[in-house]
Amino acid sequence: MPELPEVEVTRRRIGPLLVGRRIERVLTTRPSYFFLTPPARLRAGLAGREVRDLARRGKYLVAELDDAARLVLHLGMTGQLFSARATSPRLISAGARSALHPEEQLRFEPDAHTHLRLVFADGGPEVFFRDVRKFGKVLLLRRGQSHPRIDRLGIDALELSGEALFAASRGRRAAVKALLLDQAVATGVGNIYADEALFRARIRPTRRAGSLARRDCDALAEAVRAVLLRSIETGGSSIRDYVAPDGADGAFQDERRVYARGGEACLVCGGRIRRVLVAQRGTHYCPRCQR
Ligand SMILES: [Zn+2]
Repeated sequence: MPELPEVEVTRRRIGPLLVGRRIERVLTTRPSYFFLTPPARLRAGLAGREVRDLARRGKYLVAELDDAARLVLHLGMTGQLFSARATSPRLISAGARSALHPEEQLRFEPDAHTHLRLVFADGGPEVFFRDVRKFGKVLLLRRGQSHPRIDRLGIDALELSGEALFAASRGRRAAVKALLLDQAVATGVGNIYADEALFRARIRPTRRAGSLARRDCDALAEAVRAVLLRSIETGGSSIRDYVAPDGADGAFQDERRVYARGGEACLVCGGRIRRVLVAQRGTHYCPRCQR
């Protein structure tokens, strides 16, 4: 599932392809749960509008339009937001790819999973929202219209402080990993980044949140920010279906130290990485390095 870094990478890459451009028309698939705003209303509301800004709120992308309406996008599990210049062969099925001429192999053609397609007045590259499993969301908010999905989020994980984490952990019997995944504490930490941050801070994920000292919280908040920033720098993590909007795959997965490395050797001490369940999520840690 795309997490905060992937969404931020998407924002940085797709922003220049949206901001300052006027949408001429919008092509969609049929009405479905993917569209929180019905496709007919989306088409009518977006045609002729210019995109002024593309922001991120947690894992939501919010495009502000010239009539002060907001187009809200969530990538869900398998959503891909990219331009017609996408170059990843992973966007095209293997069968279709082999039938193409070599120089055509990297071009994307909209398919049945391409639920939203923005065509611009300048005739330049179109922008696609493709989602195989359709857990993504598209929502158009009128000027001044609020929505709990984006207007009631906790502190953005990139701005998490030790002070905030310490305050949120007081009296909590839950595991510290569960605290990190609590969206009311911080928005967008996500499973991979929680495990990696706990490893960096040398804190065991199963430890009771209330037992953390203030300095543990400082170290952990710093580790969360560092892991997320590093992932943004390397283009996000491309485990499973995530593909960056320009088709480039993320490299952060190569830097994982514990996540999905259960049974493998710890890169610091050589001990065996353990995998347990915390808050129903696969959780990876080194029993020697993390206390
Ligand atoms: Zn270790």
